[in-house]
Amino acid sequence: MVETLIFRHALLPEGWVENVSLTIADGNITSVERGIPGGTGIALPGMPNLHSHSFQRAMAGYAELRGPGADSFWTWRELMYRLALGMNPDDVQAVATQAFVEMLEGGYTAVAEFHYLHHAPDGTPYTDIAEMAARLTAAAEATGIELLLLPVFYAHAGFGGTAPLPEQRRFINSLDAYAELYERCATLAPSGIAPHSLRAATPEELRALTTLAGTRPLHIHIAEQTAEVEACLAWSGLRPVEYLLRHAPVAPNWCLVHATHVTPTEATGIAASGAVVGLCPLTEANLGDGIFPAHDFPGAFGIGSDSNVLIDAGRELQMLEYSQRLAQHQRNVMASATIRPTATAMYQRALAGGAQAMGLQTGLAPGAPASLVTIAGDDPDTTLAQAVFTARTPAIRDVWVRGRRVVAEGRHHLAASARAGFGAAVKRLV
Ligand SMILES: [Zn+2]
Repeated sequence: MVETLIFRHALLPEGWVENVSLTIADGNITSVERGIPGGTGIALPGMPNLHSHSFQRAMAGYAELRGPGADSFWTWRELMYRLALGMNPDDVQAVATQAFVEMLEGGYTAVAEFHYLHHAPDGTPYTDIAEMAARLTAAAEATGIELLLLPVFYAHAGFGGTAPLPEQRRFINSLDAYAELYERCATLAPSGIAPHSLRAATPEELRALTTLAGTRPLHIHIAEQTAEVEACLAWSGLRPVEYLLRHAPVAPNWCLVHATHVTPTEATGIAASGAVVGLCPLTEANLGDGIFPAHDFPGAFGIGSDSNVLIDAGRELQMLEYSQRLAQHQRNVMASATIRPTATAMYQRALAGGAQAMGLQTGLAPGAPASLVTIAGDDPDTTLAQAVFTARTPAIRDVWVRGRRVVAEGRHHLAASARAGFGAAVKRLV
């Protein structure tokens, strides 16, 4: 089927262009014409969400009360583990369906699921080792979001190959079992390799995973917490990013998720490697992780919704810019000399970085997937700034993924049924 969409403004690879017509066939853009009047709205390429644990959507709002002592990432993780231990495959699918609906309504057209809840509650693999990945794939197919599966390799509780904790039993695989899991995932959806962290994989295991990845996407959590930096220093004498840059072939197919605690030398090293930094500003703020020095980072970055405490691409960009403003005591920190409107500059960088990290082609150009979102307004830079900084709800109007319109007037066609399934799952779990 061939379809033509005409917009008053569109964000093309060269920037904003007026009166743009996109012709779409078989899910891809086949031609882009300029100077075609009669269109309405503002079209942008859909944002890739480069880091999500969709199951954590079920605990959003349930971890916002203080425990007996000081609350931290680590006390939050205890609650998250309790949730993870109670979820069955139906729950995982119901929660992912809701999370993916919200992602599409919030401006994301693709998601990388950094997925570690693999096994049955007692830690035994399901008959199909990729049962949970199959449920994520089913949720992605139903909602229409483009999926990159990142089955996570998790084998240890801490640096130096320490034994995993009992509450981590659903995450654990040997390298052989992981290879089987990966092969099975690759039959379900495009897949990459994801060593959970330097805590969870030994140097030997990391080398094996790097070989398995080849040039496919390789994502790893790194330097999210100061306690992790201290433990890495105690173990190796090096900081996490320093260790990785020295001992692993970090390259443009790598995504360093968080990289919150980096020195200027480490940040320069990441940029020189060509790897993408996976920033998750809302989750990093929610967990009290810290602030990545994005203000002078010359490399690539994308955005991820991580814990899914709030799902909205615009809000992630808002938090990114505001965290930099608070740290730098300046305004419009993420604008650049060439793109001075801050929201537009951040959007363009996050779009490019997210696509690189997920191995996707992006941009409204012939040959690219017809994955786009629209916002309503007259002046595109101002409208995007309002979507990022001033909108009270996601400003997204319509969303197409590979030529299929899945959100119309801000609402996903499965919104009601997804919410009902999610509500039933959460009631059982929490
Ligand atoms: Zn994460």
